[in-house]
Amino acid sequence: MPELSESTVRDILDSHRDPETGRPMGSMGQIGSVEVSGQTINATIGISSHSRPIQADVKEALESKLVAAFPGVTVNLTFQLHARPATRVGQTALRAKSVIAVGSGKGGVGKSTVAASIALTLRQFGCKVGLMDADVYGPSIPHLLGLSGRPGFSESKRIDPIMLKDDSDLPPMPVMSMGFLVDPNEAVIWRGPMLHGSINQFLGMTEWGELDYLIIDMPPGTGDVALTLSQAIPLAGSVVVCTPQEVALLDAVKAIAMFRKVNIPILGMVENMSGFLCPDCGKTYDIFGQGGAREKADEMDVSFLGGLPIDIKLRVAGDEGRLPQVIASDDVARGPLEKITQAMVRTLASRNAAAPPKPTLPTL
Ligand code: ADP
Repeated sequence: MPELSESTVRDILDSHRDPETGRPMGSMGQIGSVEVSGQTINATIGISSHSRPIQADVKEALESKLVAAFPGVTVNLTFQLHARPATRVGQTALRAKSVIAVGSGKGGVGKSTVAASIALTLRQFGCKVGLMDADVYGPSIPHLLGLSGRPGFSESKRIDPIMLKDDSDLPPMPVMSMGFLVDPNEAVIWRGPMLHGSINQFLGMTEWGELDYLIIDMPPGTGDVALTLSQAIPLAGSVVVCTPQEVALLDAVKAIAMFRKVNIPILGMVENMSGFLCPDCGKTYDIFGQGGAREKADEMDVSFLGGLPIDIKLRVAGDEGRLPQVIASDDVARGPLEKITQAMVRTLASRNAAAPPKPTLPTL
């Protein structure tokens, strides 16, 4: 057993792997002051905004390593922000650490609600987030977020996204959607090259700023946009949204197969409308049975990220464009959404620990 000293404690902290990069935290300058006084350890740990959702995991892991090495010690860890800029993604001007596509096998399962809610929850955790609505056939993100307006052009001829702002201290969230560019009642017919062009422009021409996460709401079902994206940039992964009914699960299987085909890794499955949260008694009723999505995820060798119950408040908030306010408040929907978001970031972290991400090219 090592002797309790600042240097032995520092060795343990230094060697712990950073969830974002998978590299030892010491080598990245993330371990600040370390003090040992009697049987008490005080240390300051730097964590990047990308890893904020799983800061509690890092704290717990470090505490248990220290207690295992020095039984009986008291550990006080203080976390502070470790600045680490995002680099450019692929050949584009986009600077984002993790680009995540949210897809589904069919429409109406709550994919846009889940995509927007994941983006908003990441923002609540303190991450720098952008939201891109690639559901060009039915762009619903502006409506869900209560945003309108026309994106302008910056001096450098780049597109200025619409910014979601609120009274909180959180930075504004850039949002880009075809819904800002075309009349919501107008039918848009997209031919392949146009679709390809607009997705690439959204990605590379938008003034996103520097992001930890760019969440992309994908069109349901078809693989055209997934293919365009996978050719344009390396994606960190995808999240597949489904509902618990057996038929919906079959669609989810198709969505998983589609992402696999274009080499976009699957981070996991989210079961939306899993049970009904009764507003009167607070109890959740399993209308469509339970565990179907989890079983299907296991069968497909995909992580299950969690379930989100049917919550009338969420539906009303979406319809009224108040999703950001509901997620910012201490609403019941926030609990499951935090769990889903943390599970997603955890899956990214475990991949980074196994092997830092490498760009992949699609095989057709
Ligand atoms: P999709 O993007 O899959 O077409 P949407 O996100 O637009 O689906 O959701 C479809 C409808 O279902 C919307 O009215 C939305 O408010 C509602 N909805 C989605 N998820 C939930 C939920 N968990 N609880 C209640 N209503 C939901």
